[in-house]
Amino acid sequence: MKEKIPYKIYLNENEIPTQWYNVRADMKNKPAPLIHPGDGHALTIEEMNPIFCEELNKQELDNETRFFDIPEPVLEFYKMYRPSPLVRAYFLERALGTPAKIYYKFEGNNTSGSHKLNSSIAQAYYAKAQGLKGVTTETGAGQWGTALSMACAYFKLDCKVYMVKVSYEQKPFRREVMRTYGATVTPSPSNTTNIGKKILADHPGTGGSLGCAISEAVETAVSTPGYRYVLGSVLNQVLLHQSIIGLEAQAALKKFDIKPDILIGCLGGGSNFGGFAGPFLGEVLRGEANYKFIGVEPASCPSFTRGKFAYDFCDTGMICPLAKMYTLGSQFIPSANHAGGLRFHGISPILAQLYHDGYFEARAVEQTAVFDAAEQFARAEGILPAPESSHAIRVAIDEALKCKETGEEKTIVFNLSGTGYFDLVAYQQFNEGTMTDTIPSDEAIAEGLAKLPKVGNE
Ligand SMILES: *Cc1c(COP(=O)(O)O)cnc(C)c1O
Repeated sequence: MKEKIPYKIYLNENEIPTQWYNVRADMKNKPAPLIHPGDGHALTIEEMNPIFCEELNKQELDNETRFFDIPEPVLEFYKMYRPSPLVRAYFLERALGTPAKIYYKFEGNNTSGSHKLNSSIAQAYYAKAQGLKGVTTETGAGQWGTALSMACAYFKLDCKVYMVKVSYEQKPFRREVMRTYGATVTPSPSNTTNIGKKILADHPGTGGSLGCAISEAVETAVSTPGYRYVLGSVLNQVLLHQSIIGLEAQAALKKFDIKPDILIGCLGGGSNFGGFAGPFLGEVLRGEANYKFIGVEPASCPSFTRGKFAYDFCDTGMICPLAKMYTLGSQFIPSANHAGGLRFHGISPILAQLYHDGYFEARAVEQTAVFDAAEQFARAEGILPAPESSHAIRVAIDEALKCKETGEEKTIVFNLSGTGYFDLVAYQQFNEGTMTDTIPSDEAIAEGLAKLPKVGNE
């Protein structure tokens, strides 16, 4: 009899990949470079070094090196919470009555509650290795800020987090986690920066935004000796570090000779989908395999499915470099949507290029349908999923239900990027039946796209 696939497939500690995979090396059409908002020239490493860490800038600009060695201290830290399990969702399959085989890679098993720790520990390591005193960043919902404070505590770096003011007030528990790890958390906009003071003067009483917090974090980094700015998604280097997810998933599947048909992840800035799907996309790019990939975005912020492939600002303050991505425009403001991590309007240029070239499909799903899936998953598999991750669950369930109709025994693998213990206000709204779906009108989308910058797009 054939061996039953275990409920959880764990790699051994010595099977954790020791190199990150750079999907750009296998892309025929390379992702478009970051460009200067003034005259559109591609940013040089000299221009990037005052803002970001040097070694990370090298990774950012490297489209050719296929594998990067993971530094020993980072590998050691990974062993604290990795390998992450690849779980066979037997209970969910049973609940759905589907012949499909469903697996999920579970990245929520660390205090930050998400995959973000995979990159924050790498970025903190390179900052320390460069002899820096500290790093600055922004956080919206708080996952990235938490992951970065954990990493900075480990490497004894100072960590200054600008947290969007509404989140700072509504999510005091996230803030306390960050402070426990030693980070300074400042509600943004604040009077600690020039841009913050200006925004406060122009918009008294504002709850802030991610774009504004980015501007404050960048200003603090460039004006404080020994500090640099770090970012938790979108950048090429972040997808590189997150490839650990896909590499582990590949190795675990291989161990039991499992061939996936469909790979699914949610799309925010693109780091968990890019990291999970990247190594499998590499197989497709090299002509070694053929998989179907589905990236899932919220219908309230449908960058891929309704946006435009164009250069755009990464911040609402319009001071950061331009990136070529699928965008609804940096001035597009999505409705108050609880999947906080998916509201960032910037998208990884790597994923934008791969989508443009037809390598994966994007699907937009509505919030209440997402929480229906989250509830179903929680009741069957026991894990309380993050709202962001539940976008991937929604589509995994939809695909499994299709198999139920056709009788196909497809193998579906999705990335469960994190847990939802700090998102209970959203769960409360769902449970009380007050959650709504907001889909932007065609007019609202057109208005956002009309404000794209001219630079890079002519
Ligand atoms: C931040 C976050 C996301 C979205 O960001 P990506 O860069 O697209 O991965 C998704 N899931 C969780 C749990 C997150 O914390």
